[in-house]
Amino acid sequence: MTCIFCHIPKDRIILSNDRAVAIFDRYPVNPGHMLIIPKRHFDDFFDASDEEIQSITELVRLCRELLDKTYHPDGYNIGVNCGRVAGQTVMHMHVHLIPRYTGDVEDPKGGVRGVIPEKRIY
Ligand code: 5GP
Ligand code: ZN
Repeated sequence: MTCIFCHIPKDRIILSNDRAVAIFDRYPVNPGHMLIIPKRHFDDFFDASDEEIQSITELVRLCRELLDKTYHPDGYNIGVNCGRVAGQTVMHMHVHLIPRYTGDVEDPKGGVRGVIPEKRIY
């Protein structure tokens, strides 16, 4: 099976550096949802090299600047699903950068704790 993140059309790439690219998510959970993806194919965040982590982090920061200017969110969630049991569906590592807007959910308390919905609010 071919990997969609190994074959991203050039015109979909919003930002890039030596080791990573950033694109908009095709099925965004909120307007401006971006994915930061290493150029090298591997599935697990924990297999990223220090240099790849550095390149990914640089793009997370640059994407945040871009989104601040264009979408004006009020906050962000940053997340990585590591493994199918954790919800990963595309087995090429990627970081979700999700802009958050006041009122986008009724009660945002707990944020990423919502991966286990009944434990989100503590
Ligand atoms: P995961 O569940 O693996 O953490 O996230 C995969 C993400 O990739 C999902 O948020 C999904 O919307 C996004 N996605 C799936 N297929 C495509 C695609 O063809 N293009 C883009 N830009 N995003 C995709
Ligand atoms: Zn891949």
